[in-house]
Amino acid sequence: MATETIFSKIIAGEIPADIVYQDEHCVAIKDVAPKAPTHLLVIPRKVIPRLCDASEEDRALLGHLMLATGDIARQAGVEEAFRVIINNGAGVGQTVFHLHLHILAGKEFSEAQLGF
Ligand code: AMP
Repeated sequence: MATETIFSKIIAGEIPADIVYQDEHCVAIKDVAPKAPTHLLVIPRKVIPRLCDASEEDRALLGHLMLATGDIARQAGVEEAFRVIINNGAGVGQTVFHLHLHILAGKEFSEAQLGF
């Protein structure tokens, strides 16, 4: 049983957030502590703690998240240059254990620097 996180509370409307997109499978919000001028989080309604916890039954959902991410970047006007990051595990900085894709844009990202 997946544990409830701050993101499931946001999706349930129990905690406020700046929601920029939603559909039946996912919600996108502005990151509360942005690391770039545009910093959005694309969050599936289904609680999957980490990417590596996704299973075969999540195949269509994962595809949906990728397509939604492109749409959300387009809607935000950053489709020409944005970075998508998924942190999987505390060792690389995952702090909220509810799968989410970071969309980052609006600042210089060097080739070598994959983090944010
Ligand atoms: P990660 O480190 O990949 O788990 O990313 C979690 C992200 O969630 C961080 O960038 C936080 O700034 C962001 N965050 C945490 N709480 C909230 C919140 N209530 N509303 C919006 N973003 C949040």
